[in-house]
Amino acid sequence: MFDTVIVVDWSGGNDRGPTPKADAIWACVARSGTPEAPVYLRNRQVAEAWIGDMLQAERTAGRRVLAGFDFPFGYPRGFARAMAGSDDPLALWDWFAARIEDAPKANNRFDVAGAINRSLGTNGPFWGNGLKRDVDGLPRTKVGYQNPFAERRRAEKLAKGAFAVWQLSGAGSVGSQALMGLPVLARLRQRFADDLTVWPFQPLDAGIALVEVWPSLIAPEIAAQTMPDEIKDAAQVRVLAQALSALPPAEMEAMLADGDAQEGWILGLGHENALRAALTPGDPVPPPLSNDCFALPPGVAWTPVDEALALLQERLTPVARVETCTVQQALGRVLAAPVTALRSNPPRPNTAVDGYGFAGGRDAGVHVLPLTDGRAAAGGDFDGTVPAGHAVRVLTGAALPAGVDTVVLQEDVTVDGGRIAFNGPVKAGANSRRAGEDVAAGDEILPQGRRLTPADLALLAAVGVGTVQVFAPLRVGVLSTGDELSEAGSDAGATQIYDANRPMLLGLLTRLGHEAVDLGRVADDRSALAAALDGALDGAGVDAILTSGGASAGDEDHVSALLRDAGAMALWRIAVKPGRPLALGMWNGTPVFGLPGNPVAAMVCTLVFAAPALGLLAGAGWQAPQGFEVPAGFEKSKKPGRREYLRARMRGGVVEVFRSEGSGRISGLSWAEGLVELPDGAAVVKPGDPVRFIPWGGLGL
Ligand code: AMP
Ligand code: MG
Repeated sequence: MFDTVIVVDWSGGNDRGPTPKADAIWACVARSGTPEAPVYLRNRQVAEAWIGDMLQAERTAGRRVLAGFDFPFGYPRGFARAMAGSDDPLALWDWFAARIEDAPKANNRFDVAGAINRSLGTNGPFWGNGLKRDVDGLPRTKVGYQNPFAERRRAEKLAKGAFAVWQLSGAGSVGSQALMGLPVLARLRQRFADDLTVWPFQPLDAGIALVEVWPSLIAPEIAAQTMPDEIKDAAQVRVLAQALSALPPAEMEAMLADGDAQEGWILGLGHENALRAALTPGDPVPPPLSNDCFALPPGVAWTPVDEALALLQERLTPVARVETCTVQQALGRVLAAPVTALRSNPPRPNTAVDGYGFAGGRDAGVHVLPLTDGRAAAGGDFDGTVPAGHAVRVLTGAALPAGVDTVVLQEDVTVDGGRIAFNGPVKAGANSRRAGEDVAAGDEILPQGRRLTPADLALLAAVGVGTVQVFAPLRVGVLSTGDELSEAGSDAGATQIYDANRPMLLGLLTRLGHEAVDLGRVADDRSALAAALDGALDGAGVDAILTSGGASAGDEDHVSALLRDAGAMALWRIAVKPGRPLALGMWNGTPVFGLPGNPVAAMVCTLVFAAPALGLLAGAGWQAPQGFEVPAGFEKSKKPGRREYLRARMRGGVVEVFRSEGSGRISGLSWAEGLVELPDGAAVVKPGDPVRFIPWGGLGL
């Protein structure tokens, strides 16, 4: 029915400051059950412009929009007629719009309410005054209060905890929000004219439907899904927008069939279960990333590596959906939930060797035991109990028969007719494995976030696990930029170079366990780049993008320029060599890592910054590189101020570095088997000094 849902949490107050406040306006756009990051609108002027632009953009894109606002669209019966001379609530909207003045610093809502009360000659219906000065006709409290109309709308009688529309101040009251919101909606009606209708006063036959919503209908769900540090209003619009946009059309129709053409209605009232169900449609949908997740603290010139990493670690969260797969399909996948053993390993006591089993240990000296008939073999079930003082033939892996807890190796035994002889001592329990000695049923064997190795698959299988919940693989696009680039193997002009970064980055991503998506090359052209990024999101459906080249601040650095224009880019000047500025930004909610063009810098920045960040997005948690101290096989001194990574490899027990540090030297990358990391401060390295070496494996390759 609706392609896009917008939910707005309105505010009667106005926030003038730049930092998000709980009582400003929040809005969230959702499509098909997937919400975007909530948007902070710091006052009504900003909100009115944003909502208008958003509606326009959605209509231009041909999408039908349901826009919900959390304040009453109507008043108890009789009020509209008394004020605007008509029972049509929309006439009251225009009546308010003609009287309410609003500016970021001041508005006249209490004066308008006082004037209404005076015109009716009663000490009400409006009450509550948020101002220091008294307002003629507007009582501050309900002492002596008179209301010529009903105290509550019909909908409010059904909505537990809803406030009456007449109360203008006090925590949670909506009276002021309506007075300040309805004029905005009245102007939207004018702007979109025939393309906008209002529920439940008009038939919803236009491109835009305005509806009244109330997030408290699903308060428990919102509370449960509020993220740590998330502002409550942001969570409210996010979760309600998600629910409304995920609602099956039949449920939406049923909700829209309700209503009161004079007083208005709360969409979804009485349909809370349907809203709730829409929030849990099978696979959980991860919360979106915030648009400012790459913002840097102001005033920082060169950010130290560890600080940059800490910022990434703090702000990125898993974006991948959860799915189920079999153990056979699970290699390299990331666990979305911890796994517990369904049964013990081994499930029963068994023998570790081929030999003879009996009960108890034996001292030094010769022992002769009569043999019991039959044998215990792997997979077989030995019937009966082996009598004390008797032995039985057992084969590796066989469950120990009743009456057996100790095994002697067959090589240590002489068999003669129906008896065996061997030399002690033999310890009780020798050569046998206790049930659950490896893993007990119910033990947590693997944590959430684990990227499954071949050994993990063995462990899962051994403890009876057949399927696991994993994150869908992260789809990461790779795009090269630069007029000078040609495709590998093609005829390149004299001024051209081959695109070396793309195959390298695609390879790195594959090794890191992601789904690498080739987005090709684009020239140094902003619109081509924008089209490529759009295509990556809409067509290829990527979760993140790596670009190389054009990330700096020069004339031809279109990646950084484009992302900056999109309003969500930070140029991270990180104190690292090799590496030029990293352009980190969001393109329509998808993170873009703008890597330097030089292949050495592109690879190092990918491994040091992008790889751990992508790990977080993929649900694998934060993976710090695993290095170790080894003696240097080289000499080097460095100045303080930035961290350095050298192409390196281990030979003969020392670590050697590539002969050149030039960041275009691709041969050195290929030569290397890891990186030497030199600290941020000054360093003088002499042969034999300990330095930190991180092999490719320690970087997740
Ligand atoms: P840029 O970051 O665009 O200024 O590029 C820095 C250097 O890296 C230039 O010498 C580029 O020609 C080179 N470069 C950029 N992209 C690639 C690529 N995909 N493969 C190889 N070299 C590249
Ligand atoms: Mg370039």
